Amino acid sequence: MGFIRNSARSLLLWEIVEGMALTFSYMFRKRVTINYPYEKGPISPRFRGEHALRRYPNGEERCIACKLCEAICPAQAITIEAEPRDDGSRRTTRYDIDMTKCIYCGYCEEACPVDAIVEGPNFEFATESREELFYDKTKLLANGERWEREIAANIAADAPYR
Ligand code: SF4
Ligand code: SF4
Repeated sequence: MGFIRNSARSLLLWEIVEGMALTFSYMFRKRVTINYPYEKGPISPRFRGEHALRRYPNGEERCIACKLCEAICPAQAITIEAEPRDDGSRRTTRYDIDMTKCIYCGYCEEACPVDAIVEGPNFEFATESREELFYDKTKLLANGERWEREIAANIAADAPYR
């Protein structure tokens, strides 16, 4: 009987029939894949993506050049230089992050007393050269302007847990 059953299965290509039946059964189930990059999955408000420097609503830079982020960075990826302005306020003249060193630990964001340096929601910043990953202050402020709405919403969403 076993010989006849095995012969019939071989003749009818039964494994292929079973495989196709399984494939067709998935055609009517809810999709678990998304059409990236046109569709994107949800990300947590705590997601640690590309860095950004933020400004206050009046346009003033938040960063007060305290250098806590530079001191705490375990990868020593942050370089800051600062000078007092004419009005006596202290602001950075240089704020660089070597993104090739960064390990996305989030310590810089945690250390910042004024929510100036943050890791935003952007994860699509792959580059073709290392040089493009040497971020300067202009680039970081531009990131802040680009992502401010999302960053502010994420900080607000996470605030009750901090
Ligand atoms: S996320 Fe961590 S490694 Fe990257 S710049 Fe901030 S403190 Fe440094
Ligand atoms: S980004 Fe924040 S922690 Fe870093 S120097 Fe500016 S104010 Fe200080």
